[in-house]
Amino acid sequence: MPVLVLKGGRVLDPSSDLDGMADLRIDTISGRILDAGNDLRGDETVDCRGLVVAPGFIDMHAHLREPGAKSKETIRSGAEAAVHGGFCAVVAMPNTDPPVDNEASVAFAYLQSERAGFARVFPAGTITAGLAGESLSEMGLLARAGAVCFTDDGRCVADAGLLRCALEYSKAFGRVIMEHCEDVALSEGAVINEGPVSAVLGINGYPAVAEEIMVDRDVRLAEFTGGRLHVTHVSTAGSVHILRAAKARGVNVTCDVTPHHLLLTDDACLSFDPVFRVNPPLRSRRDADELLAGLLDGAVDCIATDHAPHTAEEKSQEFIAAPSGVIGMESAVGVLLDRLVRPGKLPLRRLVEAMSCNPARILGLDGGTLEPGARADITVLDLGLEWTVDPAKFRSKSRNCPFAGWKVVGAPVFTVVGGRIYDAIGRTCRRE
Ligand SMILES: [Zn+2]
Repeated sequence: MPVLVLKGGRVLDPSSDLDGMADLRIDTISGRILDAGNDLRGDETVDCRGLVVAPGFIDMHAHLREPGAKSKETIRSGAEAAVHGGFCAVVAMPNTDPPVDNEASVAFAYLQSERAGFARVFPAGTITAGLAGESLSEMGLLARAGAVCFTDDGRCVADAGLLRCALEYSKAFGRVIMEHCEDVALSEGAVINEGPVSAVLGINGYPAVAEEIMVDRDVRLAEFTGGRLHVTHVSTAGSVHILRAAKARGVNVTCDVTPHHLLLTDDACLSFDPVFRVNPPLRSRRDADELLAGLLDGAVDCIATDHAPHTAEEKSQEFIAAPSGVIGMESAVGVLLDRLVRPGKLPLRRLVEAMSCNPARILGLDGGTLEPGARADITVLDLGLEWTVDPAKFRSKSRNCPFAGWKVVGAPVFTVVGGRIYDAIGRTCRRE
């Protein structure tokens, strides 16, 4: 079946300014898009009437836990969860055990990804050797081996001199420095956002300024060096203000936000349910509103899940003992379509840019477009499908999803990776 036709869908590709009813033809042998048009024929046809055909979604921030914690997730289970959630590609964070700070670890991630199939997994490399924050990793070797960006995610690079060097090197490699911005001197021992909720609960708060000080420092270093900075999981209104102003004066900076920081606030922590413990913490309504405003005006470029699997045993400890992190790859598209796109708060086109075109451009990945000759990585959405987020149906090994039980309208129904079709959660969660 060499030529596959996705028939009669609404083809929405912001990269080529395409939005209309069309057929999309794919060469499944080369795994490339042939063309879009009317009355196209092929060897196999999939009826896409009533569905949206978009360039494949890319999750630029996920923790796949292999090597080191395979009971939480593996590259295989993570890649399978990704396609099930509508993602064609995932960037795996390097804070595994051992960390991805050497060429062999990069090669291992690619090998496991190839063995698994499903979504493509791209490893990020560490900024510092052993994530120790003391000396730079072999960034040149890592880049050559295929690390798609550099990050010490899980922590910030505390030493400004080291980050300066990393940003300078990033220019030669054409790879972004992805920063988890947190001044731990201000967030040490913190469990949730510092504000009225932490005061009511009497637990240590993580103030917004702990993030904003590092965003500000990093933006200044990017401006000074001309290096490429990407701030990941931005969570506060103040960070968005800093990034918006930096972009306005031409600093080479981009950023992403997570679905949980867009859709949840620290009020959720009043339940004392440890599933809501996450780093950076859930913030206030005002912060969440500003993240959305940033997505709308371009201050925020991408949405990434920060998928962080933990075992049920770990997450069932009391709130202050439970590890930080939520899973998100199989809920992200549904909750965003339902809570932001359906009520008209976020145009679908902007969602596709934030989840496909922009991550591809920032990371330099092959994807994020449906132009002829592009990789046939495609996410197909049903905007009218009603379903309930049920982690028991997830392909991820973990269940710590903060959106469990949400009734939503809209889901990915299938994902095409390099011309091959995989069922997404909309196919397996039939209409309610
Ligand atoms: Zn992080």
